Amino acid sequence: MEKKNIDWANLGFCYVQTDYRFVSNYKNGAWDEGVLTEDANVVMNECACVLQYAQTIFEGMKAYTTADGRIVTFRPDLNGERMEQSAKRLEMPVFPKDKFVEAVLKTIRANEAYVPPYGSGATLYVRPYMFGINSVIGVKPADEYQFRVFTTPVGPYFKGGVKPLTIRISDFDRAAPNGTGHIKAGLNYAMSLHAIMDAHKQGYDENMYLDAATRTKVEETGGANFLFVTKDGKVVTPKSESILPSITRRSLMQVAKEYLGLEAEEREVYVDELKDFAECGLCGTAAVISPVGKVVDHGKEICFPSGMDQMGPVTRKLYETLTGIQMGTIKAPLGWVVEA
Ligand SMILES: *Cc1c(COP(=O)(O)O)cnc(C)c1O
Repeated sequence: MEKKNIDWANLGFCYVQTDYRFVSNYKNGAWDEGVLTEDANVVMNECACVLQYAQTIFEGMKAYTTADGRIVTFRPDLNGERMEQSAKRLEMPVFPKDKFVEAVLKTIRANEAYVPPYGSGATLYVRPYMFGINSVIGVKPADEYQFRVFTTPVGPYFKGGVKPLTIRISDFDRAAPNGTGHIKAGLNYAMSLHAIMDAHKQGYDENMYLDAATRTKVEETGGANFLFVTKDGKVVTPKSESILPSITRRSLMQVAKEYLGLEAEEREVYVDELKDFAECGLCGTAAVISPVGKVVDHGKEICFPSGMDQMGPVTRKLYETLTGIQMGTIKAPLGWVVEA
């Protein structure tokens, strides 16, 4: 199969239209079979529920080429499960996890020409999503829904090398206790746009959000979970009901324990302890782990000993082991790497 003529190494993180996307419609209480289509546009009524009341959820994953030339994706069943949880919380019909995985693999196969070659650092980003599509003016859930999967090739995350991030403790909150922070819904991103634009204006890469109730505990950033490493080499991740359960973070915690023999613990993390950690990273599908060099708490700098030039040693090991597992150079746990 001939690849598209794309400069993989210099791709950014921008939408590039690919040939096919999967579409399935929910009407009269049931999902149809779904089809691959070349039509990238969605046509809907002006009063569609998603446009008026933001009834929309999504997932994010990637397809890539392994060292031995297979086109694969990483733990798609977990994305399917998470999307089921998101749907339930927003009163949307569940798109069943096995059909979700099938749709994702089908869309990847149809766009095989856009899956970057091994070693390019680029990947094919996969975006499953679902929204309420019929007209709704009184506040209530839609009756009709559309589930879609599109793909877009994206460039290497650490283009031009790894640069540890500087993040600020945000005065804005991301998620309320008993709210929707734990689901992957567009609404969580709409309200983060002002906070991230403001952070960038002030010279920060990201916002560290705290728990909204007490503002003493670390939650996450707008789109990634935190991992910390203690000075005695224990991996710690914040525990909270309002954090989005990152698949990358859950995988890294397992890698820490089972591949690296480290202690790994999910527990409440207080802002007051930040100064005691040796390393800090952000985890999510796009970067796997992005090191954080510095957290700024209202002008007070908390600098991690790993510094502003490179990943800390434990972060690096976690990064190399998980990317090795993904790329097929390290043996993966059963079911983690799924061929398209
Ligand atoms: C998607 C997302 C993450 C990362 O999850 P992965 O499954 O690792 O990609 C973390 N936090 C938020 C708020 C997210 O939306």
